[in-house]
Amino acid sequence: MIDLAEARRLLLAACPPLAPVLLDSADADGCVLAADVVAPADVPPFDNSSVDGYAVRTADLAGASQTSPVTLDVLGSVLAGSVAAHPVGAGQAWKVMTGAPVPDGADAVVLVERTSATRTAQLGTAGDRVAIFAEVAAGAGIRRAGSDVRAGEPVLAAGTVLRPAHLGVLASVGAWQVSGYRRLRVGVLVTGDELVPAGGTLGPGQIYESNRAMLLALLARANCRPVDLGVAGDDVAALRERLDAALAGCDAVLTCGGVSMGDSDPVRAVLEATGALTWLQVAIRPAKPFAFGVLPGRAGPVPVLGLPGNPVSALVSFELLARPALRHRMGHPDPYPEQVLAVADAPLARPHGDGRIAFLRVGCRFGPDGRLHVRPVSGQDSHQLSASAAAGGLARVEDGLQVRAGDEVPVLLLS
Ligand code: AMP
Ligand code: MG
Repeated sequence: MIDLAEARRLLLAACPPLAPVLLDSADADGCVLAADVVAPADVPPFDNSSVDGYAVRTADLAGASQTSPVTLDVLGSVLAGSVAAHPVGAGQAWKVMTGAPVPDGADAVVLVERTSATRTAQLGTAGDRVAIFAEVAAGAGIRRAGSDVRAGEPVLAAGTVLRPAHLGVLASVGAWQVSGYRRLRVGVLVTGDELVPAGGTLGPGQIYESNRAMLLALLARANCRPVDLGVAGDDVAALRERLDAALAGCDAVLTCGGVSMGDSDPVRAVLEATGALTWLQVAIRPAKPFAFGVLPGRAGPVPVLGLPGNPVSALVSFELLARPALRHRMGHPDPYPEQVLAVADAPLARPHGDGRIAFLRVGCRFGPDGRLHVRPVSGQDSHQLSASAAAGGLARVEDGLQVRAGDEVPVLLLS
C-alpha cells in the first residue's frame, strides 16, 4: 500500500498543467488565470454621478436650507452615456442621471430629493429653474475616475480561480481575452460485462450501470467538459480499441472498474500492455485500487485515470485523486478538496488496524453554534451509493483514531 499523499504526488506529477491559452473572458468561469491582468485604463474612466440630481458648484449653495433655498438656472439634462455640452457656471446646474459624466465646473451632485424644479415635469430642460434646499460638501454624489480600478495596476493575479464577479471585473477593464488554462475534455468510459445502461433490460447477473452519470456530473462541476464514452465490457482487446478512439478526442480519460486484483480487470491489463501503467493500492478506505498511465493522444499526452468500479469507491476516488489531478492540469493553485474541522454528533466507527485512512461519508449541517456538525450516513459499504448520496462530506479518520460524539474531525466537503 502507498500513502494517500504519495499517491497524489505521483499522480499530479503525471498531470502537469497544460500550456496556457487565450481564453474568452466571458466564458472563463471556473478557469485559472495564467498571468496577472493589468488594467489599461481607470475604472470608472471619468468622474460620474452616483445619484440622480443636479450637478452644482458648492460655492453657490452657501447657506441653502429648507426655509431659504438657493435657486439655480438649469442648463439641461445629462443622461448616462452622454456628455454636457458646456460647463456649469456661477448660478447654474445640470440635471444629471446616475452614471452621467460630471459636467466641468461642477464639484458636487445634489440628490434630486433635496431639490424642487419649477416645471412640474422636472425634465431638466434648459430654461428650468431649480430650488436647492441644502448645502452639500464638495465631492458629494461623485464617483471619481479610478476609484474602482487604477490604470496600470494589476486587477487580478495569476493563479486566480475565476468566479462570476471576476468575469465582471475583466469586462469592466475591457479585457475580453485573458491568458489562462482551458477546460479539459474528459472522457468517461465505464467497464464491466455485468453493466446495463438505465433504460435497458437486466439479464441474469446484470445490474444497472450507475457511475457514468455520476462521473460526468462530477466532471462538469469540476469545470471540465465531460465526454460520455459509454459502457465497455471486460474484453481487453475491445477495451483497448475504445480507449484508443478516446485518446484522439479527449485531454484526459476516466475509466471506471477493472483495476483491482480480480480475474477480469481489463483496465489494468490494457494499461499494462501499453507499458504506461502505474497501479496503486492507496492506503484509504474506500477506493483502495487506482491505476493511471499517460498515453499519447492526438494533441499531446493524455492521462488515463482508472477509478475503481464500486460506486462509492468511484465517488471517493474522484474526489481524492482524479479531481485534484485534473485541477492541477488546469493550472489550479490549490487542487485538493477543502477541509474544515467539524464536530462529530455521533461516534465515527471505522475498522481498526488496516493501515488505511477511512473517509466516512457524513451528513453535514451547521449548528446553532455556527459550526459544522456531522454524523455518519447509514450505510458505509462501498456499494451503498444511495446512503452516500445523502452525504455532504467525507470525514477523515486516521487508522487507530477513535472519534466519539463531541470530538472534532476533519471533513472534506463534497462537490
Ligand atoms: P470492479 O472495480 O470492476 O471490480 O467492480 C467492483 C464492483 O463495482 C462490482 O460489483 C461491479 O459490478 C460494480 N461496478 C463496477 N462498475 C460499475 C458501474 N459503472 N455501475 C455500477 N456498479 C459498478
Ligand atoms: Mg469490473
